[in-house]
Amino acid sequence: MAKLKLALYWAAACGGCDVAVLDVNEKILDIAAIADIVLWPIAMDFKYSDVEAVEDGSIDVCLFNGAIRNSENEHIAKLLRQKSKIMVAFGSCAMMGGIPGLANFTTRESILERVFIETPSTDNPDCILPQTQVSVPEGVLTLPEFYDRVRALGDVVKVEYYVPGCPPAPEQIWNVVEAIASGNLPPAGSVVGASEKTVCDECKRRKEEKKIKQFYRPYQIIPDPDRCLLEQGIICLGSVTRGGCGVRCPNTNMPCRGCYGPAPNIVEQGAKIISALGSIIDSNDPEEVARIIDGIVDPAGTFYRFGLPTSLLRRARV
Ligand code: SF4
Ligand code: SF4
Repeated sequence: MAKLKLALYWAAACGGCDVAVLDVNEKILDIAAIADIVLWPIAMDFKYSDVEAVEDGSIDVCLFNGAIRNSENEHIAKLLRQKSKIMVAFGSCAMMGGIPGLANFTTRESILERVFIETPSTDNPDCILPQTQVSVPEGVLTLPEFYDRVRALGDVVKVEYYVPGCPPAPEQIWNVVEAIASGNLPPAGSVVGASEKTVCDECKRRKEEKKIKQFYRPYQIIPDPDRCLLEQGIICLGSVTRGGCGVRCPNTNMPCRGCYGPAPNIVEQGAKIISALGSIIDSNDPEEVARIIDGIVDPAGTFYRFGLPTSLLRRARV
């Protein structure tokens, strides 16, 4: 069988998804045995012209990580779509907007002002903001345009498969590559490298009765390692999040932040956890309820940490 032609690309992301591919450890040799990597900027020196030169549709699979935050991200997403038979939104940022998508709680202007004018370490008396073009004696220099809104990959190009995770779990990465190589893939549009259950379904912690009198941030208490974290007042999104990560966070005494995206049959991960919390707050006294809810620090960032751009809200001003 001919080897797969595989491309990996990194748009608006932290780089963790690329590193996670390396975390498959010795399986990287198995990946090399079944696939020729034709583009992987983190590991090999490729120029955009190399991608432009390849025939349309000649890349078998593109694992695209990162959100679409600027015009360069969008341009490369469209180019790789044109060159690839299968486009995979790889990781939470490509699939849902991810952590960069939290910027949709504010505006392009306020981000640029904060970063280039207001930060204490910035010395910019003329308040110069980045320009997409600037003329210098040698010619015109260009920068990508910084967009007002972060989008998921699927908002910009057609995507065949979604692999969730921040980053995807290494053992799932190998499963995905192997499934692609063997042609053993579910229908287009599916989430792969994950399970059909919730993180809670796969979590071994003891669940008794969820009644919450006070919320805590993880650093404020030392939780019982065997009891459900949510029952101890730590907001854990396991009940509304797709499983398949191996319950990575609760197994290390940290709550699930929701990086695998909405569990099957859940449309709106953030709204669903808000509704779940509403039903387990242990009080009918409005003042006490208000005090308990006040204990949730950064509710918007907590409930929409990975999925604001693909939530029903898409963007919001807070
Ligand atoms: S809420 Fe979190 S800690 Fe509790 S069972 Fe679900 S995943 Fe485990
Ligand atoms: S437990 Fe939740 S946040 Fe942690 S890796 Fe799994 S899905 Fe992501």
